Amino acid sequence: MEYFVVIPAAGRGKRMKAERNKQFLLLNRVPLIVRTLQVFEQDDWCKGIIVVGNRNEVNELRQLFSEHKLSKVIDIVPGGKERQNSVYEGLKAIKGSSLALIHDGARPFVSIESIRELVVQADQSGAAVLAVPIKDTIKQINNHKVVKTVDRNSLWAVQTPQAFHLHNILQAHETAEKSGYIGTDDASLIEYSGGQVSIVEGSYLNIKLTTPEDMVFANAIIHEKEGQDKDV
Ligand code: C5P
Repeated sequence: MEYFVVIPAAGRGKRMKAERNKQFLLLNRVPLIVRTLQVFEQDDWCKGIIVVGNRNEVNELRQLFSEHKLSKVIDIVPGGKERQNSVYEGLKAIKGSSLALIHDGARPFVSIESIRELVVQADQSGAAVLAVPIKDTIKQINNHKVVKTVDRNSLWAVQTPQAFHLHNILQAHETAEKSGYIGTDDASLIEYSGGQVSIVEGSYLNIKLTTPEDMVFANAIIHEKEGQDKDV
């Protein structure tokens, strides 16, 4: 099996309330984006990584990847306004390989085992995402009043990576762009085009670092794995 992966990292990370793009925050001395890329660097099935970065951060990213010997990075392309625009730019830079993965730069704890299960599923069915059953009860609200409680048994929280046949996801992005549809993940563009998406059960450790509290969880995960001092 083989695939290419697009890593969107061109957000501003406003919800992290850090001085700069969260991709550069250190987790036990290693920048977040480097940790995320290291997973794919270690997976033999991964034939190339395309990073989507902010235009003014491309040089810094390039230097960082060379310092950390991330030899699979084949391109760093400038991102767009929304995540969806950034991903589309990254997908267009893939040359060859029929399977494309999309994985947030801010999810450093995905395992190679999960990636491979996902790739096998996407190869068979065309589109697959990692997801976990939700643990909390979810209520629909309006004006701080409960409208209804949603049946939890049918709710899963979707993560990345998400994996697709390259031509399908490129076509879905084109359709979405033409009609001005913006989805909150990549699979929703396949759904919008009438396609089916398979679910592969992932891990609760595959968190996305979004708000400052997530850094506390991230450091705890690293401490558990590496047994070293934290250094945010
Ligand atoms: O904001 P959020 O954490 O949900 O973004 C998910 C990923 O998409 C992040 O790694 C972020 O850098 C990236 N992104 C992007 N281009 C944007 C917005 C977000 O590459 N315009």
